[in-house]
Amino acid sequence: MNVADQLWLLKQIYEHGSSCFDEEKKMVLYQIPDTISAEELSALERMGHMPNQIYTPKHDEIMDAFYRLSGTWTIREASDAFIAGLWSEPFLWRSALTAKVMAMVMPPHEHTPYGNSKDTCAVCGYRDKAIDITQKWYFCMLEGTPLDGDPVGHVLALKEMEQMGKRPVPTEYDWWTFRAVLTVIRSMPPKTRYSKVRDALSKEKLLPSSKKWVYGNLLESLALIGILDTKDYPGMITKYTTYRMRDGRPNVRVEVQAPLAWWDSSVGINEQALKKIFPTAACPSVDLADRPIPIPSLSETITGQLEKRRRLRQKK
Ligand SMILES: [Zn+2]
Repeated sequence: MNVADQLWLLKQIYEHGSSCFDEEKKMVLYQIPDTISAEELSALERMGHMPNQIYTPKHDEIMDAFYRLSGTWTIREASDAFIAGLWSEPFLWRSALTAKVMAMVMPPHEHTPYGNSKDTCAVCGYRDKAIDITQKWYFCMLEGTPLDGDPVGHVLALKEMEQMGKRPVPTEYDWWTFRAVLTVIRSMPPKTRYSKVRDALSKEKLLPSSKKWVYGNLLESLALIGILDTKDYPGMITKYTTYRMRDGRPNVRVEVQAPLAWWDSSVGINEQALKKIFPTAACPSVDLADRPIPIPSLSETITGQLEKRRRLRQKK
């Protein structure tokens, strides 16, 4: 079963299906709708993507895997995967770079309870709770990196990438997409906050998704690694900041963590960080009105295929 078919089935479960809270496992479990056949379910199982695949990660086990799996990547391979994961390859590949940059600076540590949320680690953001491995895969494929630098999500994404085979090399169009994203950010009026930048990126349809939060995820990833940061709230390529530090917000209405929570367009792009992460890439602004023909085309990308298919089925 190909990847788009697997994601399509999982969409019926995770986005359109019903769920209930399991008191014993302390997590939400999903019901398998009647529209999914036994054959389809066993195909998902064969691919390692059976829904409700429960895993209770342990802090030290996650830390070991995080350093070990990130260590198999060079920064160049990870930054290439990030660029390819903007358009030609599934978004999941972008997690190679957020993982790599965090692993380069995160100090080895023990689980450090975060105030009253004792299950959360104040240093790395690990949470001692059961998760669904397949659901994590689904959202990394279609939305982007595990948010707030979640180490469990990153370990799972790195494991998936091991299974996916050859590490991707970005196409010319992937690079154009990255430069176009930087162009939109550079051209925002002074003092523009992240939500307006996200809307502007979404309007340009630079990623193969029409969902605004997918563009928000991209901004959060760029901020976490240090391309959109501030002097007081640096991103990871500049300095490691603990989960506790990142979690402090200017006010309760701000949905994102530092550095993005404190950033605005007047601070701009951290060009030094950009050079550190992409040392050989030229990142000048592009003419957004002169967009090259996307290769692959939108309908050939995983996300594009899935969004198109949803529309076709809804007509029935
Ligand atoms: Zn930790």
